[in-house]
Amino acid sequence: MPTYKAPLDDIRFVLDEVLDVGQLTALRGYEDAAPDVLLAVLEEGGKLCEEVLAPLNQQGDAEGCRLENGVVRTPTGFKEAYAAFREGGWPAMIADPEYGGQGLPRLTRFVFDEMLCSANLSFSMYPELAHGATALLERWGDPELKRRFLPKLVDGTWGGTMCLTEPHAGTDLGIIRTKAVPAGDGAYQVTGTKIFISAGDHDLTENIVHLVLAKLPDAPPGTKGISLFLVPKYLPTEEGAIGTPNGVSVGSLEHKMGIKGNATCVLNFDGAKGWLVGAPHKGLRVMFTMMNGARLGVGMQGLGLAEVAYQNAVAYTKERTQGRALTGPQNPRGEADPIIVHPDVRRMLMTMRAYTEGMRALAYWVGLLIDVEERHPEEAKREEAADLVALMTPVIKGFLTDVGFEVTNLGLQCFGGHGYIREFGMEQFVRDARIAQIYEGTNGVQAMDLVGRKVPEGGGRLLKRFAALVERDLAAAQADERLKEFAAPLAKAAASLQQATMGLMMRAMQNPNEAGAVAAEYLRLFGLVATGWMWLRMATVAQRKLAEAAEQGRTLNGAGHRYDAKLKTARFYFTKLLPQAHALTAQIAAGAAPVMDLEAAAF
Ligand SMILES: Cc1cc2nc3c(=O)[nH]c(=O)nc-3n(C[C@H](O)[C@H](O)[C@H](O)COP(=O)(O)OP(=O)(O)OC[C@H]3O[C@@H](n4cnc5c(N)ncnc54)[C@H](O)[C@@H]3O)c2cc1C
Repeated sequence: MPTYKAPLDDIRFVLDEVLDVGQLTALRGYEDAAPDVLLAVLEEGGKLCEEVLAPLNQQGDAEGCRLENGVVRTPTGFKEAYAAFREGGWPAMIADPEYGGQGLPRLTRFVFDEMLCSANLSFSMYPELAHGATALLERWGDPELKRRFLPKLVDGTWGGTMCLTEPHAGTDLGIIRTKAVPAGDGAYQVTGTKIFISAGDHDLTENIVHLVLAKLPDAPPGTKGISLFLVPKYLPTEEGAIGTPNGVSVGSLEHKMGIKGNATCVLNFDGAKGWLVGAPHKGLRVMFTMMNGARLGVGMQGLGLAEVAYQNAVAYTKERTQGRALTGPQNPRGEADPIIVHPDVRRMLMTMRAYTEGMRALAYWVGLLIDVEERHPEEAKREEAADLVALMTPVIKGFLTDVGFEVTNLGLQCFGGHGYIREFGMEQFVRDARIAQIYEGTNGVQAMDLVGRKVPEGGGRLLKRFAALVERDLAAAQADERLKEFAAPLAKAAASLQQATMGLMMRAMQNPNEAGAVAAEYLRLFGLVATGWMWLRMATVAQRKLAEAAEQGRTLNGAGHRYDAKLKTARFYFTKLLPQAHALTAQIAAGAAPVMDLEAAAF
């Protein structure tokens, strides 16, 4: 059975030493959010993930969810685990204190999300959707909706969903058919079928708050005619108790490749009572609060699964003995050496490690930016952070889930045939990771968002802000002899990214297919460079700490090993992974013709 240990040392390193999260205390409302406080909370969260959620993961996969008499039953143990989750106050972590939340920084939730996803991705999605619904209502709900629904969402008594997809409308939400007609009392009657709804029904909470995209009778066509409605499973009474069932039923449960412990439902809305959230026909804008949060959350799924796959691969490759090291026996008393001695196995482990640690730093940096965007006292800082979050959202979603899938696959490979066998749990990580590349806007859609909207926005303003940060750190590193080995390859890759961007933008002005045809390669290139920048920042810290200790004649014990390992892993990233940037640049420069020349009829 796979195991999970919250990677608190690395979390602490990134938060404290690389990102300097102490700066959060300068933000409005976060005066008490000192690093020690956040880390203490995360330590507790880590224990819940290790001790309660991870042990249920494999069983949840084997059992899956069941639909019984129209109600979804979650796998054995999920109910009790959810009760512990709720009693521990975890749903309220970052919610608004006005509605019972703890008001912790958003970054805290990012880190906690990673751990939840490592421990039990299927479970994590139930509270995650409620968390998204909470954020949406906090921002867009009118006072009455907030009063009736937020306290129960915040304390985890009620769950949430996002209902966008219909059988004929996935990526293209402009063509949804679900209708909402005014009921005359300020509410609406919502009718239609939604498919693939995560956590669409379950037995963990007493009520579920569905956020549903639908069209009003006078809706203009396309995405400009979409409105958003809050439709509860049960209509709450004035006192906030659950009242009569609303017209929402589960048509069926999807049978799927992974995340089997999470209920993916077909939901039928038959004149169900709902309330408009936000302005009529402006629902997509409102839903984007939830979707952007969910995109970042899905990125954390890629990271979380990469981490747990890596941990299990390390443990297995130290134990499993096969063959001898190429340089001679390392375990002469045994009949074979542990497979970690083999360079090809080491290649896999280093790839997993370098990506995972790099992605962690990148994701947490974006988490910190969200707090800065919302609460920094200076407007200029808030604007800068908002631009960077917008730019990075498709990168976090696309790059972390693509790489997360690759890392889980490498983890399976480290186990050989045993990786393919259920009992060891590695194939579950691969299956679970696969969906993250698809939902919340496929990674193809993320790539189009990056090249079609985020990069050109404001004449390249977002990108310039990012480039300025990378250049600042590069300039400092290039001036330091000990950091040149890291700065030089990053400078080259960053120049490649700039060259690719300019070429792509010029060609796309002539022909939009030029952007679409290379968007996925561009997103990958962007993710590699951004992760490289994080590796430069991590190597800079590690190098400085080691040098300071050496100068002062101090021994660093465990921390010394960790800094040393950081430098060695950074070296691997810069020499073995980042060079992909140059091949990608050539692929991007090849443009749309090789992709589009073969006419559709010839396929
Ligand atoms: C397990 C699971 C859970 C889900 N949970 C939810 C949920 O909670 N709520 C919800 O509303 N939905 C949910 N979804 C739906 C999910 O978001 C969609 O499946 C996804 O957005 C893609 O839509 P589609 O499946 O219709 O594929 P399509 O839109 O048909 O896309 C098929 C392929 O065409 C590509 N494509 C389509 N349009 C374009 C374009 N314009 N440019 C370039 N490429 C394009 C896509 O990238 C993809 O590769 C879930 C799906 C699954 C499988």
